[in-house]
Amino acid sequence: MCVRVRVRPLIFVPVSFMIIMKLSTGANDVAARLNSSGFFRTQGLIGGKWVDAYAGKTIEVNNPATGEVIANVACMGTRETNDAISSAYDAFKSWSKFTAAERSKCLRKWYDLIMANKEQLGELITLEQGKPLKEAIGEVSYGASFLEFSAEEAKRVYGDIIPSPLADRRLFVLKQPVGVVGAITPWNFPLAMITRKVGPALAAGCTVVIKPSEFTPLTALAAAELAHQAGVPPGVVNVVMGNAPEIGDALLASTQVRKITFTGSTAVGKKLMAGAAGTVKKVSLELGGNAPCIIFDDADIEVAIKGTLGSKFRNSGQTCVCANRILVQDGIYDKFASALADAVKNLKVGDGFSEGVVQGPLINEAAVQKVETLLQDAVSKGAKVLLGGKRHDLGFTFYEPTIISDINNEMRISREEVFGPVATLLRFKTEDEAISIANDTNAGLAAYFFSSNVQRTWRVAEALEYGIVGVNEGLVSTEVAPFGGVKQSGLGREGSKYGMDEFLEMKYVCMGNMS
Ligand code: ADP
Repeated sequence: MCVRVRVRPLIFVPVSFMIIMKLSTGANDVAARLNSSGFFRTQGLIGGKWVDAYAGKTIEVNNPATGEVIANVACMGTRETNDAISSAYDAFKSWSKFTAAERSKCLRKWYDLIMANKEQLGELITLEQGKPLKEAIGEVSYGASFLEFSAEEAKRVYGDIIPSPLADRRLFVLKQPVGVVGAITPWNFPLAMITRKVGPALAAGCTVVIKPSEFTPLTALAAAELAHQAGVPPGVVNVVMGNAPEIGDALLASTQVRKITFTGSTAVGKKLMAGAAGTVKKVSLELGGNAPCIIFDDADIEVAIKGTLGSKFRNSGQTCVCANRILVQDGIYDKFASALADAVKNLKVGDGFSEGVVQGPLINEAAVQKVETLLQDAVSKGAKVLLGGKRHDLGFTFYEPTIISDINNEMRISREEVFGPVATLLRFKTEDEAISIANDTNAGLAAYFFSSNVQRTWRVAEALEYGIVGVNEGLVSTEVAPFGGVKQSGLGREGSKYGMDEFLEMKYVCMGNMS
């Protein structure tokens, strides 16, 4: 069953009308502009053709700031996914034979088109995801950077020649694309989570079936339209959306799909990993985090506040690398807590299209309820609310930027991803204690710490059991560095030269009787 399924009306309703009919004035202008942009798509993309769901079903996409319907998009399932896989499989035969330079040119063109439409894509992200426009436009640049980087990396997929132990043999290693890739992505970065996967996949010579989140399919479809305009051949990039388990199962069951790359919850990631076993697919998983952010007594407090704000409140706290537990050393605790409260008080909450807003809505009602539940649990176990702590007066899915203190590792809020604008403070005394608390979790994605002591910097960076460590910095993601986690935060890395390896197989070739 598709969530929020709607049967397509029998009366023909122009897409443009559907988009603007229920929107408020601010979003109206945006919707009208997007209508004429040429990349506002509501159908899936299979084999280079824009298609409706075969049974005609659609699914609503809502503006999280208002709940209003932005569009009705095709709600697809098994049959459409199987066709998308076949298209990708056919396209693989030729795409994998393109020269690296040809693939590079396509990716570069795609990058150029995304950058040329940066503002409008940003507006689309704000419309369906809610983040403030400036942040959304920032995501477009960040997302595009993976295409630019992959275009460059495409030309640097080197093999190896191995010195042979036998005189009459020649040994070498070829790097070849894994094949068709299923890319399943979340709603919190509707563009960047796609380009971070699809960029290196295409650069390596793979073809893809993308399944974007049902909450944010419009950005994915716009990106696919721009890929098409950039000259990416039909079938190389396919997009299906709608019934997540059906699409996921079809991707997992197919022997033609050789790799699943996923960003999302740990629970779904585990299901996909188990499901991939049936056909022994390669799997990359970027799952939930539980990032500690440690403020040592010797930290520069201004740097620490700026870094904590960036890490905790970006995207209203809805990133897997958001600081989830802020550990503050005894000597600086009171000063830090009051400086943080002063800074958080000034974070302007509102519709992402409003001037000066830095905190948008949460993605949906379920997200708000999760924050409420975790907060209630923490307070019932002794946590104190220093700031905020409830839904915002704006109503709907807006939540007040919040700070709570006196948390401990037994509370749910320290064990689960909050995914909301709640900073949780925990007091510690020694470095060893901080490291032990920080590592006491099944997650291992990102960690942060703030200190001006060089020796401590090395010690703590080495001791943290995380895939990513920010030192005196709260925003660390970039296309040139490997992003990914250890423990139950996932497998594999995205971005950087290492991200390419996830889409390549190694083939050892032994040539005998050479003398
Ligand atoms: P989040 O809580 O961040 O939405 P999810 O893991 O639920 O994280 O969703 C991430 C992506 O995984 C989305 O595209 C969603 O539709 C998809 N998804 C959810 N359940 C399944 C499933 N059973 N099989 C395949 N994909 C799924």
